[in-house]
Amino acid sequence: MSSSNCIFCKIVNKSSPADIKFENDEILIFKDIKPAAIHHYLSIPKEHIANVNSLNSPEHKGLLDRLLAEGKKAVEDQGGDVNDLRLGFHLPPFNTVGHLHLHVISPASSMGLMH
Ligand code: 5GP
Ligand code: ZN
Repeated sequence: MSSSNCIFCKIVNKSSPADIKFENDEILIFKDIKPAAIHHYLSIPKEHIANVNSLNSPEHKGLLDRLLAEGKKAVEDQGGDVNDLRLGFHLPPFNTVGHLHLHVISPASSMGLMH
């Protein structure tokens, strides 16, 4: 199910562009538009799920693990260092996009040097 005014749903259905690094039936991984490090990816479910508080159905079981595992693989595929990762979910009111997304950032030790 997608939400018509959600920017990440638009990226999922390819009506908005993004630098996509990985996708399967469940997950999409793309580069953050304002990267905090060389590898800064957002690992998201294709389904519109607002945030971790909305993970309430049996199909969501293990989703966070899969977002993380595929996010790490994407960093590896892009030549990044998976031993120097920063991971995180921002929750309301500290998030700006209301579609669940795991930040996967590497190298964490270089964060803040990009801007
Ligand atoms: P958060 O909600 O986790 O605080 O921040 C949302 C993140 O999504 C930010 O790091 C922001 O740069 C990124 N972002 C917002 N809009 C877009 C977009 O249209 N494309 C991409 N690639 N990233 C976006
Ligand atoms: Zn959405």
